[in-house]
Amino acid sequence: MQIQIQCCGIVLMMVLFYFYIRQKRIALNTQRAFLGVYGATFACIVLDVFSIGVIEYRHVLSEVFAKFVAKSYLVSLLGVALSALSYMCVDIYAKREVYWQQMRKYLVLTAAGVLGIYAVPLYYQYSADGAKVEYTYGPSVYVTYGMALIFFVRIFYLLHKERAKINPRRREAVCIWLLVWIVASQLQFMYTDILIVGYAGAIGIMVLYLKLENPETNLDRSTGLFNSGALYQYAKQFYVKEQDFSVLVLAFGNSAYQNVQMEKRALARMEIIEYLLKLPDALVFKNAEDEYFVLFVDLETATEGVRRLRSRFRSGWGAEDTCMVRPYWLYLPHANVVDSAENLLYFIRYVRQNAKLFSETDFLCIEKDRVEQMYKERETKQLIMEAIEYDRVEVFYQPIYSTREQRITSAEALVRIRDREGNIVPPGVFIDIAEESGMILKLGEMVFEKVCQFIKRHPLNHYGMQYIEVNLSVIQCAYEDLAQDYIRIMERYQVAPANINLEITESASTNAKKTLLGNMAELMEYGVKFSLDDFGTGQSNLNYIVDMPVDLVKFDRSMTSSYFENGKARYVMEAAIHMIHGMNLEIVSEGIETAEQFRTMEELGISHIQGYYFSKPLPEEEFIQYLETKNAG
Ligand code: C2E
Ligand code: MG
Ligand code: MG
Repeated sequence: MQIQIQCCGIVLMMVLFYFYIRQKRIALNTQRAFLGVYGATFACIVLDVFSIGVIEYRHVLSEVFAKFVAKSYLVSLLGVALSALSYMCVDIYAKREVYWQQMRKYLVLTAAGVLGIYAVPLYYQYSADGAKVEYTYGPSVYVTYGMALIFFVRIFYLLHKERAKINPRRREAVCIWLLVWIVASQLQFMYTDILIVGYAGAIGIMVLYLKLENPETNLDRSTGLFNSGALYQYAKQFYVKEQDFSVLVLAFGNSAYQNVQMEKRALARMEIIEYLLKLPDALVFKNAEDEYFVLFVDLETATEGVRRLRSRFRSGWGAEDTCMVRPYWLYLPHANVVDSAENLLYFIRYVRQNAKLFSETDFLCIEKDRVEQMYKERETKQLIMEAIEYDRVEVFYQPIYSTREQRITSAEALVRIRDREGNIVPPGVFIDIAEESGMILKLGEMVFEKVCQFIKRHPLNHYGMQYIEVNLSVIQCAYEDLAQDYIRIMERYQVAPANINLEITESASTNAKKTLLGNMAELMEYGVKFSLDDFGTGQSNLNYIVDMPVDLVKFDRSMTSSYFENGKARYVMEAAIHMIHGMNLEIVSEGIETAEQFRTMEELGISHIQGYYFSKPLPEEEFIQYLETKNAG
């Protein structure tokens, strides 16, 4: 029997181990399982060589001992198969208890196999001249092959059945590894003088190493810190174990280095990284966006670590400690406020990108309520996205009564969306989020298009109506192409511009005023009129009315209702009415719910009344019916 091939295998494995051990590593369960496979395979090859030697010198040593060692080699083959199974189960049964529950079954099976191998006989096949042992055979070998077969079938079965749970790279690597083994043992079975099974095991380990287990894949190349892939895998283990931990994120955007000269930045950055690495009982990860994640297992250490880091950043960095670097800080004392590693990373990205959250502070401590709010926002975002995609956007119309003409002459178009179950969702729930995410542009355009379709289907003058008011969001007002897009839509449906009145708000006039005025000028030239919505909320300022070329001012419901509750508010409103009328503008009073409120508004000379007193916002068909009865006489 030859031992050269096995010796090659041993050398190969030692080289791999050298590389493996030299790398900076992180304690991942899968790496532990990989070491199991490595150990089993290594033991197998060593025992292979050892048993060949012992058989060679069996006359000197002892026949019984030689058989025992040869059988031990067979046992080690089972060890390899078992370790391969365990390597896969780490992914499938992430929870430790479940993993061990499964492994116990296989351990019992292995123990039975080991007993079998030692209990039944093993024979030598001698060369033709009877001088040398060529290979071993007999029941002991068959038991080994049989058991190995059971394990391999089980592995293939799990690879298929649990494929959703196994990392695809691991599946592929394990498949290649098994294939190499099967081909090698088949060859060895046919050509009994080439003993390549051990070597094939070493090749298999190399495949696993190259495909998955090279610790370098967990490192960030530029800094040598662990990368975001490692963070994900490491955090995932904590969630599976249901163990809490703390994360501190330091985000260095360009603004962090604002006052640091270009050439000093690299030095300051290196110094910061070195400092982070020296933090006691903390692991540091870095992602591609130059964000650093410091992970603490224990809350007390975390609190102290955060305190230390923050105070260190109050002094400068670089050669003369003159570089003041100001990162954004995001601290999650309890990472279990989210439920998985995916959500943790998603959440951190979400907060980072939400500039509004950092508008007043550079340090955010995230607790449960903030996370719940985020989940809700995410749901709403999804809701809007789906509503846009599957056209679950609807427009309701709320009639507006003209006190002069004593009938309904206009209406406000108010958006609604439906959720998956078909329930109506009011704009209060989603407008802010649609604005933040930019989806308001699409949503607003859909509303406008639906209004135009409505007017085309039901010409307003048939119902004694003059125009429909459509809300414009701040974001839409600051959108350069708004006027062009809206004119194109009106042309497409042949809607007369006099049928449209666009509502803007004061906040729209402060943000991107120039664009708004440009859009307004273009639309007004086309014939569209404007009104100022939400008057009486926030810091309303009569100057806005002077500045803005609007024809109508809409008194917010809060303003009209305080008129009836508060003596002083009365004077404010009366003065406002006086001034607005003085500017030759008309007024719409919103939120009028009772006959008494209606009469008072009429007496005050308000030209238009909107509110539940007349009607709530109505779906299209109901609104038409309403007009047919209300405006008939
Ligand atoms: P808004 O433009 O001031 O619209 C008036 C709101 O007051 C509507 O709420 C309407 O249903 C409600 N309302 C009217 N009369 C009464 C009343 O007598 N009592 C009470 N309690 N409420 C009354 P809605 O439809 O929930 O809309 C809320 C806000 O959402 C709107 O305030 C507007 O700012 C925004 N919005 C609605 N549709 C759109 C849209 O298509 N685009 C944009 N950008 N914003 C919209
Ligand atoms: Mg409005
Ligand atoms: Mg309003």
